[in-house]
Amino acid sequence: MTTEIIPVDDFDLVIFGGTGDLAKRKILPALYRRMCAGQMPRTARIIAAARSDYTNVQFREFVRESIESFAKSKACGTDLIGTFLKCISYVKIDALGDEGWDALKNTLRKDVVQAYYFSVAPRLFGPIAQNLKQRKIAGRDARIVVEKPFGRDLKSAQELNQVLGTCFHEDQIFRIDHYLGKETVQNLMALRFGNALFEPLWNEQHVDHIQITVAESLGVEGRGGYYDKSGAMRDMVQNHIMQLLCLTAMEPPSQFDAADVRDEKLKVIRALDPVSPDDIIRGQYVGAEESQGYLAQSGNSDSNTESFVALKVGISNWRWNGTPFYLRTGKKLRHRMSEIVIVFKDPPHSIFPEADDLKGNILTIRLQPDEGIELTMTIKEPGPGKMRLTQVPLDMSFAEALADKVENMPDAYERLIMDVIRGNQTLFMRGDEVEAAWGWVDPIIAMWDAKQDVKIKPYDIGGSGPDDALMLMHRDGRKWREIAP
Ligand code: NAP
Repeated sequence: MTTEIIPVDDFDLVIFGGTGDLAKRKILPALYRRMCAGQMPRTARIIAAARSDYTNVQFREFVRESIESFAKSKACGTDLIGTFLKCISYVKIDALGDEGWDALKNTLRKDVVQAYYFSVAPRLFGPIAQNLKQRKIAGRDARIVVEKPFGRDLKSAQELNQVLGTCFHEDQIFRIDHYLGKETVQNLMALRFGNALFEPLWNEQHVDHIQITVAESLGVEGRGGYYDKSGAMRDMVQNHIMQLLCLTAMEPPSQFDAADVRDEKLKVIRALDPVSPDDIIRGQYVGAEESQGYLAQSGNSDSNTESFVALKVGISNWRWNGTPFYLRTGKKLRHRMSEIVIVFKDPPHSIFPEADDLKGNILTIRLQPDEGIELTMTIKEPGPGKMRLTQVPLDMSFAEALADKVENMPDAYERLIMDVIRGNQTLFMRGDEVEAAWGWVDPIIAMWDAKQDVKIKPYDIGGSGPDDALMLMHRDGRKWREIAP
């Protein structure tokens, strides 16, 4: 099986923050890999913009190092680096100043797709948008890509939407959440809406509960100061986990297009119940030595910011009323692992006297590290004798089933950047969606802020979070899945 690669139209992509960490580790390598795959035209141009002094030649060296460190794979060696570097140029621009904008304007072509990637601190999103508009650099067809975080609460998200909205139309704004670019996330939609098997069962009558876990093995590393002002709720739940929840819970859109998919996601967010304080557990990791713990690593010994959060969430609509969604995310957990688990109800009656209890089927959609889908089924234990039953997984690891394709499988940034060039917003968040998500998260954070004396639960590095998070499910007679690789 070979994948048909359809090249995108010729484009000029300006990366504001082209010298930064994200550009170096993700955006530039993603573009290089798309060139290797034959999807990025060799005539396309990438213009990096930042304040540092670089000549084109010096910046191309920066790009070469980025590719050599972060883009190589079996399918994409270094043969095309020279060709790729010819597409690269650098413009010195201070987003808050006057320098460089004319040079940028003169560099751009009018007859190709124009996209502007805002890979800079959020406080610069507004000024860059305004400069592009007021200096008549970006036209009606241009696209802007806005990185996360999109606001830190409803008010700031509304303000940002408002500023961007005065400069660009909604169909020009691509709010990126790289989780939506993951292969399995899209496969979740294929699984649900491309097979007749699951959809009739995908509701409160047949599903006992749903678990969504995004576990990280790393801590705050060098980002302690930034993270401490954010916490797991803002950093992961409001965006990534909310998106996974929406795609799992939404009604079938009438078409797989941006408007319909995003309308359905928005309806889910609007149907989310407020969360009761008893249904939220916050945690902070502690190490064997003080220096390993969150307090030391965040640089704030009094910090009351959560590096772990677990919640039980309800959705008030016909499909999900009464089916809890358990969400959890945290740093310094046992393994890096993200998955969505649909736990179906137990069979209503057992006809097998030897079987202790018949367990419900479990459908697991693994996002990382090893993308794939697994369904546990009950079968007869092989061999003569009594009718003993056992549960076995029907496992479809993409790495095994589609070995040749997996090697070339685009990562989330590759897919999403190509979607920007194609003008396809299906996998990007709409302004009202982001605001609705903040509207649900804000009261939870306000509740914590009002109860500063309620201390966050400590949890050991390398575990599965605070014991109270386990209790969140135990008290309902349920159990979290193991955080395993
Ligand atoms: P970073 O390493 O600090 O890079 C910031 C970039 O902005 C640099 O290229 C910097 O270059 C440029 N810059 C700073 N002030 C500027 C100004 N006044 N005018 C023009 N350029 C300016 O940050 P990053 O990690 O790449 O993150 C960029 C954005 O992506 C942030 O919004 C971040 O939240 C988001 N993000 C990052 C990651 C990640 O893995 N890094 C993941 C998800 C989201 P000069 O200093 O040369 O101007």
